[in-house]
Amino acid sequence: MNTSNVDPAELAKFSELAHRWWDPQSEFRPLHEINPLRLAWIQKCVLLENKQVLDVGCGGGILSDAMARAGAHVTGIDLATRSLKVAQLHAIETQTPRVTYQEISAEALAEQKPQSFDVVTCMEMLEHVPDPSLIVKACAQLVKPGGWVFFSTINRNPQSFLFAILGAEYILGLLPKGTHEYAKFIKPSELVNDCRASGLQVQQLKGMQYNPITRRYWVDENTNVNYWVATQREN
Ligand code: SAH
Repeated sequence: MNTSNVDPAELAKFSELAHRWWDPQSEFRPLHEINPLRLAWIQKCVLLENKQVLDVGCGGGILSDAMARAGAHVTGIDLATRSLKVAQLHAIETQTPRVTYQEISAEALAEQKPQSFDVVTCMEMLEHVPDPSLIVKACAQLVKPGGWVFFSTINRNPQSFLFAILGAEYILGLLPKGTHEYAKFIKPSELVNDCRASGLQVQQLKGMQYNPITRRYWVDENTNVNYWVATQREN
């Protein structure tokens, strides 16, 4: 397996918290809260029912589980062993149908099973890997021609430093300190370039906002901090 595009410290961070993935009041609360929003956005682009879906960097399976419940056949992959065990256990306990989890890198799976999935999701993961362009490329190889690939990550500018690191980690305490590293944030232009270079056509670019007073999230056109990209593989 090609393990060079992995930061062991990043995997350790997530493994340490693994037992809390499904506690909606835990460090993963923001992921639970945005999950209905991102699921709705994906479903606006593509019908999930009976589709083969790959969730790259699935963690405890928050999104994988929701997509499977929406009727997709979902494979969740991650390299954090403990997170995957939690995901598997959750699927058994809650009897989620049509979901399986596998410890494998996106790059290795792309070699084994190219053009195998109708939909690939890779959410909140690119900002944790040494070379995100290799993950984008692997996702493009994994999806079938005409299929959809969805990414979400964090922009890199003074506002995103203020909101995503100072605000979320140090002032509001939404995330543990050290969750995100500024230098690993990705500008939309960089992600869009990586997508195009891999044969993924960008169909939508959206921003996600949070109001800490009302504690509400919403989606709009402002990509200054958190943003989402929907792409389609060229035929
Ligand atoms: N996608 C999930 C979890 C996001 S947290 C969600 O949005 O709900 C980021 C995840 O990326 C963690 O589970 C972490 O273990 C995983 N990750 C980090 N580096 C990785 C890599 N190189 N390959 C696969 N997964 C990775």
